[in-house]
Amino acid sequence: MSDWKSWANEPATEPGVYRWRLPAQDSAGVSVRPEWSAEAVMRWAGHSKSLQPSFGHWDGYRMCVPDGLEWRELRPEEGGVDTVWVGSQIPACPFCGGEPSVVSRQRVAGGTVVGAIPPRHNTFQMHCKCGIKQSTWFDTFGAMLRAWAHRAHPHRAADPRA
Ligand SMILES: [Zn+2]
Repeated sequence: MSDWKSWANEPATEPGVYRWRLPAQDSAGVSVRPEWSAEAVMRWAGHSKSLQPSFGHWDGYRMCVPDGLEWRELRPEEGGVDTVWVGSQIPACPFCGGEPSVVSRQRVAGGTVVGAIPPRHNTFQMHCKCGIKQSTWFDTFGAMLRAWAHRAHPHRAADPRA
């Protein structure tokens, strides 16, 4: 049973940290959906205060959140803010056969944007619980996935040509 709820139809009512996700999207032929943790806070929106996700933005008229946004209660092990991309077709780790996870961020000149929502992420890397991770960051999810699927250079030192 899924405990996800639509933010548009059934928003949270108490401030706090929740788990968020967006509809699945296609990346290099694999269907993946981002999940992440972020706060919902009381904010002025026009003339009244309402509970809004911290990553929502005010467009001068109303609060905007990504289309299809869903939320659920946070589980104890999900306190971190790292985004996880969930997809059953992500190839298993070539070393341990385990399920790898994808770490992603929004990188800008001078650093990383804290709290950036997954649609704005522009750097991706595959990690596995066994300690294997890709040696470089990729600009797109698809490029990362292709390199992982081809086991291009999962654990060697950084490729000087990269
Ligand atoms: Zn592994």
